[in-house]
Amino acid sequence: MNLDILYQLFLKSTGVSTDTRKIHPGNLFFALKGPNFNANDFAAKALEMGASAVVIDEAAYFVEDDERYFICEDVLTTLQKLANHHRRQLDIPVIGLTGSNGKTTSKELLNAVLKQKFKTVATVGNLNNHIGVPLTLLSIGKDAEMAIVEMGANKPGDIKELCDIAEPTHGFITNIGRAHLEGMGGPEGVLRTKTELFQFLRETGGTVFINSQDPILSNLAKRFEKPVLYPAKGDFCEVEFVEANPFVKFRAEGVDGEQMSSLIGAYNFGNIANALTIGKFFGVPMEKAVHAIVDYKPANMRSQLVEKRSNLIILDAYNANPSSMEVAIRTFGQMTGRKHKMVILGDMFELGDHAEAEHRRLGEIVSEYPIDKVCFTGKLIVPALEKAPKALYFPDPFSLRNWLEDSKLEDYLILVKGSRGMRLENLVDFI
Ligand code: ATP
Ligand code: MG
Repeated sequence: MNLDILYQLFLKSTGVSTDTRKIHPGNLFFALKGPNFNANDFAAKALEMGASAVVIDEAAYFVEDDERYFICEDVLTTLQKLANHHRRQLDIPVIGLTGSNGKTTSKELLNAVLKQKFKTVATVGNLNNHIGVPLTLLSIGKDAEMAIVEMGANKPGDIKELCDIAEPTHGFITNIGRAHLEGMGGPEGVLRTKTELFQFLRETGGTVFINSQDPILSNLAKRFEKPVLYPAKGDFCEVEFVEANPFVKFRAEGVDGEQMSSLIGAYNFGNIANALTIGKFFGVPMEKAVHAIVDYKPANMRSQLVEKRSNLIILDAYNANPSSMEVAIRTFGQMTGRKHKMVILGDMFELGDHAEAEHRRLGEIVSEYPIDKVCFTGKLIVPALEKAPKALYFPDPFSLRNWLEDSKLEDYLILVKGSRGMRLENLVDFI
């Protein structure tokens, strides 16, 4: 394969596409394969729809004498190599971030802050894997001054691979919790995988930003000569937690008064402090950075507030794993504002052998707080009942839906959280 020829094709294109349904005229099309599809099949279609060229890896689809066909050994690896090649032409800070929870929120906050001073490019939505990272890199135009790249992992080695492609110059880890335990080989695997980013930055002399209030992360700071710490007094950037009832309030150095964000949950304070710290590091005026945070509105289902008659619902149904469940419940436990409290918790997926123990622990955590009604729904969550015997159990969200309709709750503060596949957001209409 000739990477230079491909790079020329890329530079002449209007960008990269991997989906014929979303192709724009002039796009360079990469025919990726998945478990249920082989985009080599769509190469001709992509050209028909205006693609400037197509990258394929099956000879049967190659059309001799048509310069628009570029054949390689493996389309995915070629996409990654091209992305890395492009990244190497850019002389800008590339901030890599990973973590078990809060990556997208942190990325959005940081982007909002850095945008106050720089032309930035950041991962779109949740495109944080071995395909999304290359696509993000290839979307960085010549005029970009800074890039923010979210990196997700399912198994050890994933983050190392993404670092080799993105070659971050700066980085941070939002937290090291208990997510994707199945593929990661337990909590130690999670730690090893997430710290692959720090490992990369240590080897390449990059800069790390570390939340010194997180015991695991602050321990890792020792491995670096000059880590940038936040958010405590005396750290690089002073940001102070005020409260989270339910919105996070904070104070930031150099800016008068308490600031209120639209983010729910004390855990978001770390995400805010992180964005302000990195903003300060790159010279964004604190006043502007704070405004960007205050103006930020979280995207769908990541901790949204929904009012239903006299009830206030904290809808956090986008995702759930043991650590995000724990922080969500603990934060909810502290919240006030309505006469009664209720939690609706659903299954956490992708935990493999840890599923039983982690759901049991969930029951334990909920029982620590005086919550009037505890509802569990799903199949995996059954062990939680052992530790929370008074909880109501619904085998599926549908049966819970009927119960909610009959209950006609009034004056409740309600937390709704479960894995994406549980689609608990559908319950809100029935509260
Ligand atoms: P994904 O793995 O789906 O990409 P993510 O890491 O990007 O997830 P977000 O989408 O930002 O995470 O947030 C998901 C949920 O994680 C939030 O709704 C919240 O419950 C929780 N969360 C956010 N920030 C933190 C944090 N710093 N520590 C623990 N939990 C957090
Ligand atoms: Mg994400």
